[in-house]
Amino acid sequence: MSRTIAEQLAPLRPKRTSPVTPWAPSRRAVARVSNPLPVPEICPHCGSRVWIGSNATIYGREYGEWPWALMCTGCDSYVGLHPFTGIPLGTLATPEIRRARKAAKQVFNPLWQQGSMTRSEAYAWLASALGIADVEQCHIGWFDVAQCAAVVAAVNARKPS
Ligand SMILES: [Zn+2]
Repeated sequence: MSRTIAEQLAPLRPKRTSPVTPWAPSRRAVARVSNPLPVPEICPHCGSRVWIGSNATIYGREYGEWPWALMCTGCDSYVGLHPFTGIPLGTLATPEIRRARKAAKQVFNPLWQQGSMTRSEAYAWLASALGIADVEQCHIGWFDVAQCAAVVAAVNARKPS
């Protein structure tokens, strides 16, 4: 019993068949992003053009459910996108900024992940600790190296409640 060409080729078909791309995003996913950052055209770190591409360029293979990122053509800065949208998760980050954000999240996320606070309570506390008047403007993905260091210092100085 011989298989048809279509059957033979079926396992080779790309898994990602969704027509949703950053250029044709999911309207529901876009609506869920409460405070969308504009898409940068120029890298704030080196002034080169920013392009959008698969994160396989960064990781060697496509990674995550939404493998797109905004990447600088001139330096090693990039940022991912909110799933199923073309909206950046934060500002374009150099390797140094990415390390600082990772360190900030490592100390901050346990505040809400371990159940002592809800996520929004933790962000309200962080905004207040950092002197950010509008909690909607308080996103570690938007922070620079100094702000990330302030997150680590604030969490470490926090008395256990
Ligand atoms: Zn750059």
